Amino acid sequence: MAHTYDYAIIGSGLTGLSIAAALSNETSNIALLDGSDFSGGANRKINFPTGPINNGLRFSPDSVLAEKALRFIGNILSENLIKNVHEEAPITYEAGGFKTFLGFGENPPAFYEELNYFTSSKSIEFALEPYQWTQLLFEKFKGDFLPRSYVTKFHQQEGKVAHITVNGSKTIHAHNFIFAGAVKDLGLLLPEDSISMRARTRLSKNTYWTGLCLDLCHNKHVTDATAMHVLNGTTQDEIGPCVGRFLPPTEVEGAQLQASQWMTFIEHEVTEDSEVVGTALKKIKRQIKRAYPEALEELRLERIFVAPLIAGNGDIKLSANMTIPELENLWIASASVNEQKNLVGALLQAEMILASLGFKVEAQETSESIEAAEPELSL
Ligand SMILES: Cc1cc2nc3c(=O)[nH]c(=O)nc-3n(C[C@H](O)[C@H](O)[C@H](O)COP(=O)(O)OP(=O)(O)OC[C@H]3O[C@@H](n4cnc5c(N)ncnc54)[C@H](O)[C@@H]3O)c2cc1C
Repeated sequence: MAHTYDYAIIGSGLTGLSIAAALSNETSNIALLDGSDFSGGANRKINFPTGPINNGLRFSPDSVLAEKALRFIGNILSENLIKNVHEEAPITYEAGGFKTFLGFGENPPAFYEELNYFTSSKSIEFALEPYQWTQLLFEKFKGDFLPRSYVTKFHQQEGKVAHITVNGSKTIHAHNFIFAGAVKDLGLLLPEDSISMRARTRLSKNTYWTGLCLDLCHNKHVTDATAMHVLNGTTQDEIGPCVGRFLPPTEVEGAQLQASQWMTFIEHEVTEDSEVVGTALKKIKRQIKRAYPEALEELRLERIFVAPLIAGNGDIKLSANMTIPELENLWIASASVNEQKNLVGALLQAEMILASLGFKVEAQETSESIEAAEPELSL
């Protein structure tokens, strides 16, 4: 007879991993599936000439809910992730100089909500880099990690998901299923009778955004500015503004290098159109060059990362416990079904699902408090 897991978690990004690590305190009969070769999803380490940088998360605006979300993940890791709250207004480049960014006025971009997130004056400084969070969560996970396992269908029996199909052929059975992938994909993954045709169409027709990220390693120390930059052209176009900032300069083999990370959004539907992607990336570079004319000379490294379905409203009706109403053992952990979106939405969604599964993630002694409690040895 086929093995039945207590939990099958689909997606091993930060959301799926935080649930997997928390559930591991109770059982190791967990399958953590991911379509890609590795765990961590968007949040992984990229080795840059200046040192490691984050592929995904880079900026977290401070708010009561953001601090709650970070405490949740900190409790799972027994670490205090909040180092400090940094206050600095975002800046923009206009009429030959830098100014405080005061908003988009009458011409907000179509992805205003997504971009606006990055323009908060108060942001949280992390005590550990986000790529370390996913590494540490994975170390806490005690079940079976199944990489290269793309879930292609959920199958229902009597109001529950009975099993899932992986890579179109393999079957995995579990008592509970937690979906931590992109909510848009549910339009294809959910069984025929579990949601109405209208709901399925709504899921696929919603506006979703692809994040276009450009990471640069400059061959010089470009600026001491630490503020978030919001850069736009002088004329309106269909591409819209970008956000980004410079990391502190680093000395490498006697040379001063500086990394910067930039991001804009394009509609998910045109992600495959290399012309749109190329134009958007060119625009980011044009704006950087306008503000810092020498910054792009002899770049040491340039890295492009396209993150499909990074944002958008997942328009799907869920029960109060975050399950699909017709499938009582399928929990939806995607950030886009949470009001908060981004990192905060992802983690709050994970916390709610754990609570409805009967798990409360309590504060543990952090490594900081353990250190503080230990008397220092002196010779
Ligand atoms: C480039 C980038 C920059 C970002 N910057 C910020 C930021 O500055 N501030 C902020 O707050 N948020 C930011 N975010 C968003 C934030 O990182 C995410 O909200 C957070 O990482 C949530 O991760 P996740 O686990 O929900 O998704 P992901 O990290 O995308 O992980 C989802 C995982 O599920 C897997 N998967 C999906 N479907 C299936 C399937 N059918 N079968 C098997 N596996 C599947 C994928 O392979 C992937 O590994 C950024 C995201 C990206 C991509």
